Amino acid sequence: MELQRAFTRPDELLRAVALDPADFSADVKARQLFPLRVPRPFVHLMEAGNPHDPLLRQVLPLRQEFHAPAGYSTDPLHEQSADTAKDEAKGLLHKYRSRVLIILKGGCAINCRYCFRRHFPYDEVRFDQHQLEQTLAYLSNHPDVNEVILSGGDPLMASDHQLQRIIAALADIPTLKRVRIHSRLPVVIPARITQELVVALTATRLKASLVIHANHANEISPSLGESMAVLRQAGVHLFNQSVLLKGVNDTPDALVNLSERLFDIDVLPYYLHQLDKVIGAAHFEVTDTKAQYLWQQMNIRLPGFLVPKLVREVGGEHSKTPIMPDGNVTKLSAFE
Ligand SMILES: *Cc1c(COP(=O)(O)O)cnc(C)c1O
Ligand code: SF4
Repeated sequence: MELQRAFTRPDELLRAVALDPADFSADVKARQLFPLRVPRPFVHLMEAGNPHDPLLRQVLPLRQEFHAPAGYSTDPLHEQSADTAKDEAKGLLHKYRSRVLIILKGGCAINCRYCFRRHFPYDEVRFDQHQLEQTLAYLSNHPDVNEVILSGGDPLMASDHQLQRIIAALADIPTLKRVRIHSRLPVVIPARITQELVVALTATRLKASLVIHANHANEISPSLGESMAVLRQAGVHLFNQSVLLKGVNDTPDALVNLSERLFDIDVLPYYLHQLDKVIGAAHFEVTDTKAQYLWQQMNIRLPGFLVPKLVREVGGEHSKTPIMPDGNVTKLSAFE
């Protein structure tokens, strides 16, 4: 299937988009820092011959990845130490009061160069029957938790059968109300939304949401639209989260178009994340001042429900941290 057919070699990816690998010889060495992995449906959305294509930029190794400025680390969110439920249930992250995160599956269908997971051997992670039992016990002892978020890596790398079993087991915990999946897979391989998955998500009393991850309007394909329509008709709530990325979506037009295209396929913008400061991703950084300017422009040009929350994840905080506009509008006009 599509996962096996994904590009893993920079030269093949470059040729597929009509670029000459010889022009990138100093760049592709960055592949040793984090493997290249790009499913073909995502490549088909790139513009041939454009080295600055916003989708290509997210996945192509670049020589800038060898730079490690001050403030960047391999574990910017202190995730390994913040695994607060670790002793009681491995693979469970309980940082926010009412919801827990299950690390269901290590790998991803696509390797995004800006991802904070680029330094972890997440491919080895598996969520087995024993962990499921530990998780159910933990949830029974923590009635404050009313939502479970399946995360990863990418939780849709798990089989439909496993997802169905986990969600059915979660539905037996009376204090749980919601199940949520955070996944980039529907964007990069829309066919991942199978009938079995739709049934697994909607077969129980739990309210189901799916948060997809698209950063640019060009990622919103007709086949993604078809997959979202199936989910919506089945009653799944649909949201999107993005990362603000220099050279990809750091203009008012790019962000406005993304929100418009998302709503065209019935997906609501949820979060716009500031980059996690992970070594190898510094060339994607957008300053907070510029981020605030972009967010203000979105407010001017979009209805409120199409403006995502601008946030940063700060290790140890009890929710995502909003990046509030500082009101200094004259300074912001410097970006026009
Ligand atoms: C982002 C996140 C959540 C979910 O937060 P919401 O604001 O509900 O989307 C939960 N747990 C952890 C550890 C997270 O990082
Ligand atoms: S976790 Fe998300 S952002 Fe990171 S590599 Fe996987 S799909 Fe990309």
